[in-house]
Amino acid sequence: MPELPEVETLCRQLQKKIAGKKISVTDIYDSKLAPLPNISGRTISAVRRNGKTIEMLLDNDNSLLIHLRMTGRLLWQKESDQPKHSRWHLSFGSGNLYLVDPRRFATVKILPTQDHPTGHDILRHFAKQKFLTNYGWRKTKIKNLLMDQRAVTGIGNIYACEILHGAGIHPERIVATLTPDEWQKIFEKAKSILQKAIVKRGTSISDWRDLNGQPGENQYILKAYGQEGKKCKRCSGIITRIKQGGRSTFYCPECQK
Ligand SMILES: [Zn+2]
Repeated sequence: MPELPEVETLCRQLQKKIAGKKISVTDIYDSKLAPLPNISGRTISAVRRNGKTIEMLLDNDNSLLIHLRMTGRLLWQKESDQPKHSRWHLSFGSGNLYLVDPRRFATVKILPTQDHPTGHDILRHFAKQKFLTNYGWRKTKIKNLLMDQRAVTGIGNIYACEILHGAGIHPERIVATLTPDEWQKIFEKAKSILQKAIVKRGTSISDWRDLNGQPGENQYILKAYGQEGKKCKRCSGIITRIKQGGRSTFYCPECQK
């Protein structure tokens, strides 16, 4: 499932490809997406990320909102060869944008443009004090909180493991026991690890591909996720895997306390 860095990667690539470009044709191949207003002839003024939603601002104060959910992908092609599992298509003079989505959970909406982003985005005006007031006292485990989309937007299993390894915090620590210094490390690492992953165009461990169909490169610099049995890059510990809420958690028992 695409997380914050993957969605941000798509937005940046889309901004370069389609900002200022006019939509010449729209096709809906999957009736599950209909009805959508006809936007042929409209120009995309900008593309930006709102949480895990891709927002394409149109020239009529409306926005096209795409959420990729589980298996959705956006693919740019010069030619208008409809790829397998495509559900929706926008044609521009310079190329074609397809929504490819085998499981059909991705959503496309057109709504009036909102000025304020929704959700708590670690890379955008993140209100640390408000977050700590709302969640800092909880008896839940820190990794589960980082993955709770109501608390923080866009962090899934891979980045939660990496952030906690970076901060030296054990993934099973109870949130209420974390000190201000430990929170500071978590916030700092969350920011730097997500930013680095955007530079690497996301993590391609399973099916993530960028707008051009290319895998990202963040998987080559992971320090905890998927590294079971390998030596920790920070100490002499060995990365260990445990199960947390049905998901695999990777951490170093030596340097994550
Ligand atoms: Zn270690």
